[in-house]
Amino acid sequence: MIPYDVIVIGAGCAGLSAAVRLARDGARVLVLEARGRLGGRATAFPDRETGELVDNGQHVLLGCYYETFAFLREIGAMDNVRIEPQLAVTMIDRMGQRSRLSCPSLPPPFHLIAGILDWDALMWRDRFSIVGMAGPLRIAQRELRGGTLKAASPGETVKDWLVRNGQTPRLCELLWEPLALAALNQPPDQAAAPLFARVLAEMFGDDPRTAAIALPTKPLHLMYAEPAREYIESHGGTVLTGAAAKVRVEGDRVVAVDAPEDSSLRSPGSLRSFPIDRVISAVPWFALADLFGAPPPELADVIDRAGRMATSPIVTINLWFNRRIIDEPFIGLPGRTMQWVFDTRLVFGPGNDLASHLSLVSSGAASIVALTNHELVALARQEIFEALPESRSAALVRATVVREPRATFSLAPGQPARPSTQTALRGFVLAGDWVDTGLPATIESAVRSGHRAAGAVLGN
Ligand SMILES: Cc1cc2nc3c(=O)[nH]c(=O)nc-3n(C[C@H](O)[C@H](O)[C@H](O)COP(=O)(O)OP(=O)(O)OC[C@H]3O[C@@H](n4cnc5c(N)ncnc54)[C@H](O)[C@@H]3O)c2cc1C
Repeated sequence: MIPYDVIVIGAGCAGLSAAVRLARDGARVLVLEARGRLGGRATAFPDRETGELVDNGQHVLLGCYYETFAFLREIGAMDNVRIEPQLAVTMIDRMGQRSRLSCPSLPPPFHLIAGILDWDALMWRDRFSIVGMAGPLRIAQRELRGGTLKAASPGETVKDWLVRNGQTPRLCELLWEPLALAALNQPPDQAAAPLFARVLAEMFGDDPRTAAIALPTKPLHLMYAEPAREYIESHGGTVLTGAAAKVRVEGDRVVAVDAPEDSSLRSPGSLRSFPIDRVISAVPWFALADLFGAPPPELADVIDRAGRMATSPIVTINLWFNRRIIDEPFIGLPGRTMQWVFDTRLVFGPGNDLASHLSLVSSGAASIVALTNHELVALARQEIFEALPESRSAALVRATVVREPRATFSLAPGQPARPSTQTALRGFVLAGDWVDTGLPATIESAVRSGHRAAGAVLGN
């Protein structure tokens, strides 16, 4: 049996980035993934009818995803994302008015202020209200660098914070609400303000490009998960799928991990035990307790808090039309149930001009997650027809629905504190977007946690 230095449990962004960092630094890594495919909550699967690889939900990266880009560079996958030069978004409001917010290449925060002042979807009163955010943003940026003054208080919701800082209802509806929903996956009247302030501080940082949107140019599975697997394996590691792991503990330390072998390997169904004294758990909060036969007392508090974390769903409706419906990769639909529409074929680059695969995303989707597929598709069609009346003449060829009921953890005030990387169980380190990185549940939070966990295991 190969003597591994570290076992990483879970092959989402957190586990794969941890394993890549470990492999880069010379450790022999074994990655165990319970599912048959890599990527966790950021993955793609073949469409049952067409075989097209479809994401479990459109993922958007931002220019401030520094560690994600370092991870992608390391595995040679930077070409699999396209980063816009600066923040620029087309929006179609509830009345069907189309406009474009485009932030020029000025030093922050002047790029945002100039972009808003020039945005013709807004009355002058709405445009000027952006100035009310300059102070809180500056404080949030100082906070990021260790400042003690708080931009927002923990008990305050995003909505309350925006109102307190003079943001008009129109600017909230067109800018802040879609941004907050995309970044936090929770409606602004539910999510706590401090994490949103932190996101804004990172987005509107020292460089106008940190707010720019970056889109994967391949299905997620191919964009980062498979390149990460290749990197790990070419550095002497192993990645096993179909391998739901259990951690064995003796006293206050980890001693082994048990996992069924991948059914595609030699002995389907058989269990293998890997003696190990260093384990990174990169499973989500809702899967932590299941890693153990009996929860170790050293983790009782973390497991208890993980079990009390509420979740927030995302629903994606994929619609295939017989012709192009939108003429750019994505458009914001503020004020609607599906807040963004992406044309996957335009996102991926030059493709079929005749057809169109639209992905409509509803973040913070608690109110619609229980609807039937039929109802969700009807709702998506109705919203597309209202926003883009010219689409009525296109024929819908196929529709699918992807529900992710536990897409992210809740950021509502009063949720349990998130854990740190190190735990009281010796040899057991935590990674995952839910670790306390200061960021909401995002790819960047997952990758930061993965890099931190690798650093903790390697002692640096
Ligand atoms: C639909 C959707 C849209 C999103 N959009 C965005 C976006 O636009 N931008 C953004 O930044 N973020 C977005 N996110 C959030 C982002 O996908 C997650 O924050 C990130 O993927 C979490 O990665 P992770 O590695 O922490 O966890 P996961 O991806 O959940 O990975 C954990 C892995 O552990 C495995 N596992 C669990 N138990 C075991 C076990 N016992 N043994 C072995 N393996 C186990 C799971 O199968 C899983 O593969 C979105 C999420 C969803 C669902």
